[in-house]
Amino acid sequence: MNKYCNSITRFSRRATRQVRVGNHIIGGSEPVVVQTMTNTPTMDTAASAAQIEAIARKGGRIVRLTTRDEREAANLGPIGEAVRVNYPDVALVADVHFVPAVAAVAATTADKVRINPGNYNDRGGRFEELIELCRKRGVALRIGVNHGSLAKKVFDIWGDTPEGMAASAMEFLERCRELDFHNVVVSLKSSNVRVMVYAYRLLVRAMREANMDYPVHLGVTEAGNLLEGRIKSAVGIGALLADGIGDTIRVSLTEAPENEIPAARMLVEHFENRPEEEFEEVDESAFGAYEYRARPWGRVPVLWSEVQHQEEYEVVEAVSHHPVQEWRSKLVGKEFSKPVVLYRRYTTADKELFAIEAAADFGVMFIDSLADGIRIENPNFSQEEIDEIALIILQAARVRISRTEYIACPSCGRTLYDIESTLAAIRERTEHLVGLKIGVMGCIVNGPGEMADADYGYVGGLPDHISLYRGKSLVERNVPQAEAIDRLVELIKADGRWVEPTTKGSK
Ligand code: SF4
Repeated sequence: MNKYCNSITRFSRRATRQVRVGNHIIGGSEPVVVQTMTNTPTMDTAASAAQIEAIARKGGRIVRLTTRDEREAANLGPIGEAVRVNYPDVALVADVHFVPAVAAVAATTADKVRINPGNYNDRGGRFEELIELCRKRGVALRIGVNHGSLAKKVFDIWGDTPEGMAASAMEFLERCRELDFHNVVVSLKSSNVRVMVYAYRLLVRAMREANMDYPVHLGVTEAGNLLEGRIKSAVGIGALLADGIGDTIRVSLTEAPENEIPAARMLVEHFENRPEEEFEEVDESAFGAYEYRARPWGRVPVLWSEVQHQEEYEVVEAVSHHPVQEWRSKLVGKEFSKPVVLYRRYTTADKELFAIEAAADFGVMFIDSLADGIRIENPNFSQEEIDEIALIILQAARVRISRTEYIACPSCGRTLYDIESTLAAIRERTEHLVGLKIGVMGCIVNGPGEMADADYGYVGGLPDHISLYRGKSLVERNVPQAEAIDRLVELIKADGRWVEPTTKGSK
């Protein structure tokens, strides 16, 4: 069995086991659960509790907090007590990145503990200890692999590839199974949407082959904010939800955490309650699910508004409730004499929802290299607005780079500056540049690893100080924050990658 889903032309949800997180169930036939993460200091009980209440008011019930040390892990106890006065069903998740001893404390205070297997690469029994602690209190575990922080031994064999990410997760799922511990969820996040989608498909295929049914948690890291952050997440998460993969999701945005909840709900609801539909089956061996294939015409995908000679394109419309399956049925393994433009009409009047729907429908088609152009119609929006959404979808799928990409972390208790206003200021100065990737990261501990393939990095160092990176190399350490954006611009200029903005602002 060499497949990650039952059929690429017929939707069905992946069968998973149920995992209990506090009063909530992830997996089985439960609806996809949305979750988010605080960005308050975890030692600030009142601020963290207030933020969790704001999240709960928007409908979020599973909330993660960063726990850098044992004190922070212990403080999930008082935070939980404070929150549960008004919201008794909120479940707290401890986010542990580095130190196994912190996870051990978190297992006594949290409903779920997220660990990065990159930090449990020994066989010294620390993982087994953690499992026993989780078992004792009924705590769930998330094996959370991040593209930017694979264990050295995995990296040495696989590099930072989707295969490496899936292999890293499988090793730890096997260890859980050996220990007869099954309250486990797994995630493989990346800021590169293509890497993320291929990695999850490889993982799900490997789990199927190993007869494992652990639920998966989906997310794109460092997606940014505004329309771009929502579209980037919707392309990545939507690509998997479209095939019935995903039991819980987080849309990470560089905004207030409670904003993530409605965006995530829109995405989940886009796939919920669709009537069953069947499409003509295709030869699935002609479908490349795990790596990008070039299109025969080798062109940058077009927007329909740019096309001069419409007869030079084959327009393929999806009209059903399952556009991805419908398009695949019409395209996979078929020969076309002209480039293919995908077409779909929408009526949604809310811009955020429209962008999320279009991103979830179209993005995966470009990740899977099945199309050469995009035609979206919606009478509620101008052509300019529609084109902006289409360009962000193509950029998220990495097939057409038309603007500066910001790989910004959502911030958390480690963040050393106001990342949302800083991202806005950096965006204002650099948005007119084409094809640059700029990482804007809250902390030096995880930031440099997580900003993946950014060309430049703006990373929190000491309080009120920023470290600047070119690629993965540190260029300037601890620049005062007031000067840091100017210095970033100078760095881009020195590299010959700067152009002056035109008065209108070109994109
Ligand atoms: S990069 Fe640092 S500050 Fe940003 S979310 Fe990750 S851990 Fe938190």
